[in-house]
Order: sequence, then structure tokens, then C-alpha cells
Amino acid sequence: MTVPRYLSSFSLDELPRQDFDVIIAGGGIAGLYTALCLSSTHHKVLIIAKHSLLDSNTRYAQGGIAAVFSDDDAPEYHLQDTLLAGAGLCDPKAVEVLVHEGPACVQDLMRLGTNFDTKQDGSIALTMEGAHSRRRILHAKGDATGSEIIRALSEQVKGDPHITVWEDHYVIDLITHEEVCLGALVLRPDGSQVLAAGKATVLCTGGAGQLYRCTTNPEAATGDGIAIAYRAGAYVRDMEFVQFHPTALSLPDAPRFLISEAVRGEGAWLRNIHGERFMARYHPMLELAPRDVVARAIISEMEATGADFVYLDITHEDPERVRARFPTIYATCLRYGLDLTKDRIPVAPAAHYMMGGIKTDLSGETNIKGLFACGEAASTGVHGANRLASNSLTEAIVFGRRIAQRISELKAAASPLTAASQEHRDPLTMPVAEKQRHLQETMLRYVGVRRHASTLKIALEELRSHQVIFSAKLRTREEYEYANLLTCALLTTEAALLREESRGGHYREDYPEQDDAWLRHLVFQREIGIVEEPIYEHA
Ligand SMILES: Cc1cc2nc3c(=O)[nH]c(=O)nc-3n(C[C@H](O)[C@H](O)[C@H](O)COP(=O)(O)OP(=O)(O)OC[C@H]3O[C@@H](n4cnc5c(N)ncnc54)[C@H](O)[C@@H]3O)c2cc1C
Repeated sequence: MTVPRYLSSFSLDELPRQDFDVIIAGGGIAGLYTALCLSSTHHKVLIIAKHSLLDSNTRYAQGGIAAVFSDDDAPEYHLQDTLLAGAGLCDPKAVEVLVHEGPACVQDLMRLGTNFDTKQDGSIALTMEGAHSRRRILHAKGDATGSEIIRALSEQVKGDPHITVWEDHYVIDLITHEEVCLGALVLRPDGSQVLAAGKATVLCTGGAGQLYRCTTNPEAATGDGIAIAYRAGAYVRDMEFVQFHPTALSLPDAPRFLISEAVRGEGAWLRNIHGERFMARYHPMLELAPRDVVARAIISEMEATGADFVYLDITHEDPERVRARFPTIYATCLRYGLDLTKDRIPVAPAAHYMMGGIKTDLSGETNIKGLFACGEAASTGVHGANRLASNSLTEAIVFGRRIAQRISELKAAASPLTAASQEHRDPLTMPVAEKQRHLQETMLRYVGVRRHASTLKIALEELRSHQVIFSAKLRTREEYEYANLLTCALLTTEAALLREESRGGHYREDYPEQDDAWLRHLVFQREIGIVEEPIYEHA
């Protein structure tokens, strides 16, 4: 892949510059919590968010946040469950960090005003989710955990004198000099550019669900941080591992709203369009089989029946209980004319979570000095080949706190800010909306739940034919987002083609077995190319 170092034309001599201690790109749980940890050590922090702070993947998180809180649970059980889900590719050291530091960080969320649901006696209500061996999922307002966390954290951030927030601003690229990150090139709402400079920059830009035509992620999830870091020379790891959620609402013209796994946990059945309950043909655990198995089963049924969906059916359960347990899902379905307690809900798999991302160490630092990554954009080693449900919110706060600690130890960078500049190019002449839809369709069709060398090669050829955008002069947020999506799509497809086995979220029809020869990571770096990394690098 020939990706340019910078996407836009600029001259550092002419750019206005604003100085902070730390620049944080992203206003989801990772960005907000890292900023609050940094402000407590009096750092002057800038948060940049491309929309409002209320619009991020975090806001849509339903199920909850995983941490050891009950007497019959222990970090070792959480560790085992996470390693099992990760299918041999987790970094056990990173998982140890997650399970041991998670509870204190979740307590910190409470101190900062997050109200988790409690039982009648006032103790925290814990629920169970697929592949967790104990009840360890904290939730808020039933199924509105993410929006409650964002409410609490954004209130804290907005009242914090050390934190400046730039909403509707867009990070285009990182400015680096001799493998040191000096800050970020930012697009302002009026179309002008500004340089935000600091001793450290943290990419908290979230995932890349928009790579696919069907996704549970909001429009903002365009993989910006991963592509930005890749252009700057960071290592990007495990991009073939995309988690598809089996049950997203599937209605024409409606967003792919997630119908939580907890609905199946509470007794919902899957039926094909002929009304047949089909999971017995695919797995002994029926509807509670692992997510990837359920997703593949649903696709097989959709193909066999020629339909775009199957049904999720919880009409046999007590309506009062269903309404109380899933208030958000119930209200959302009702907006589309579907009553969860009376109607079967049409669902289909959708891209949900990017396991891979910007490779970091246990302090969230990348191979570029002064550059950190946190949250879904990062690859800390916690998730391996498949994420255990509800571990991502925990990962964001645990590593956010570590990043803040590490940055506190850093000295201010001497920033020459003279080296970076970019040659002028011809403007882009084509609209990108159409191209983006095409990319999303290609990814869904060829790099989706089921993959095969022959179709992955078609995808790669298609995607490569669009690389011309990398030599054009880009100016709008939509153009930058499309270039970032294309970068992530190429990385995902190349990695998926190379990994000749099935593991975790990655399923190859031509290599349906897991193969121990593939117990290694695929890491991409812009100048070096592909670097194969052995497992347990920190051991
Ligand atoms: C429907 C749904 C349900 C989920 N349920 C759960 C759950 O129950 N439990 C769980 O643990 N996980 C869940 N997840 C996953 C979890 O929500 C995410 O992994 C997590 O919220 C990611 O947090 P983040 O801070 O890394 O990114 P996000 O919350 O996505 O925030 C990214 C931020 O970066 C900003 N941004 C992006 N690019 C740029 C740019 N170029 N310039 C400026 N700003 C930029 C965005 O505007 C946004 O503010 C769910 C995800 C979805 C979509």
C-alpha cells in the first residue's frame, strides 16, 4: 500500500499554533477519562472531538462494563475468560493489568458521578454475559450504560479548568519529527487548519465499524486514529480481527441498532423467516453459542431462505420483565413499529468491534515517542483474536489511567516544528460519498463474517483501484474520512488474506480450522511493510 505521510497540504510556517501539555483526539470514554486523569496532575489538556462529546461509540454501549466486584469472583477467573475468548492471541500481561486494575478504575467512574444500577439492598447489580464465568458486568439505566458514563464524564470535563474541549474539530494527521510526535494538525469547523502542539498526543478515536455497510457503530467510527497513526509510522496490529454482532436490527432505512446479546441471555430465540428455530443445527448451546458461531449460522439461514434477516423472538417471556430489563431496546424498536413483547424482531449480523488497532505497550505508548493510543483505536493485547463482551469499556479506563501516569513522567518535548511540510497537489475532483458506499459494500461482501482467498483477492483488487485518492489534495472532513477508511480497509483485507486459518473473529472458509502455526500477530508499518510478531511479546 502506498499511503502518503500526510493527507493534506500545509506549511508549518504559516499554520496558527496553540500549545497545550497533552492533545487528546477523541471524546468517548477513553478520551474523557484519560483527560480527567491528566487534569488531576495539573496538565493543560486539549480534547478534540469531530462531533459533540455526546456522539461516540461509547454512548451506544448497552450491556455494561466488566470488572470483578462479587465475592465469588476473582481476577484469575476474569483473566481465564478473557484469554479463552482471545483464542491464543491475547497478551497475558495486558490482560493481568486489565483484570487487576479494572475494579479500582470502575470505582473511579463512580467517584466521577457514574450511577451504576444497584439492587434493593444498595449493592451493585451485576449481570452475566456470554463467555463470562461469573456475574461481573456492571450496567446503568438497564441497557444505557455507555450514555450514563458519557453523561457523567462529560459533565466533569466541561467543569474542569485544566481541560479545553474543541468539538466539531477534526484531527487530520500527527506532526512528527525524527519519530517524535509533536502534536496534531486539526481542521477547524470553518475549513481552516490549526496546529495543536504538546509533549504528548493520545489517539482515542474509537473503532472502524464504518468499514462495513452493516454496522452497529455510529457514523463517526471511520478508523481515523488507526490510519493517522499508520501514516505517522506507528505499528498497526491484528486488523483482520473484526467482531460482528449477530443481532442488529435489520429494517430498510433504519440504523443497524444493536439488539444486545443479553436479550438472548434472557431467553430470546432465533427463527428463520419460515418461523423455524434453527440454532440446534449449528451449536449445542443454541442461541447462547459464541457470537461468531451465531453470526455465521444467521448468514447461512439468510442465504438458505433468500432473506435479508432472521427473527429474534422474545414474545414468550413475561412482557413486564422484558420492558423493565431492556428499556432502550424496547423504546427503539417501538419507534420502528415493532413491539419487543409482541413482535418478532428482524435482525442480521453487523460489524461491531475492531479488535486490532494501534500497537501499544502496557503504558499505552506506541513506537513513536510522545504518541499514545487508548480505547478501541488501540491494540493493547487485551482482546487477542476476539473480545470478551464488556471488556472494551474497562480496557479504555484501565489503560487511560496508565497513559496519564506515563505522561506525568515525560519531560516537555523540545519541538523544533520545522521539518514537517507537505507538497501541494491537485484537488480531488470526485465526490467521495459514492466511493465510501462502494467500499462498505465491498468489505461486507468479501471481507465480512465468512472469508475466502478468492473473494479476499477480489476485495483487495477493488480497494487498490481506489488508491488514487492518496495522491490528490484533500480538503474536507468527508474526504479525509474516506482516505482513512480506505487505509483501514486495505490493512484489514491484506491481513485477512495472509492469515490462512480460522481464529476468533476471523473465519476462512478455505481454512476452517485453527492452526497453531498461526499463533502470531500480523503487524503493519508504513515503511517496513508487514512484521510478524511472536505471541506474548512482553513475557
Ligand atoms: C452499539 C454498541 C454497543 C456496545 N456495547 C458495549 C458494552 O456493553 N460494553 C463494552 O465494553 N463495549 C461495548 N461496545 C464497544 C464500546 O462501546 C467501544 O469499544 C468503546 O466505547 C470505545 O470507546 P473509545 O473512547 O475508544 O471510542 P469512542 O467512544 O468511539 O469515541 C471516539 C471519539 O473519537 C472522536 N474522533 C474520531 N476520529 C476523530 C478525528 N479524526 N478527529 C477528532 N475526533 C475524532 C469521535 O468523535 C469520538 O468522540 C459497544 C459498541 C457499540 C457500537
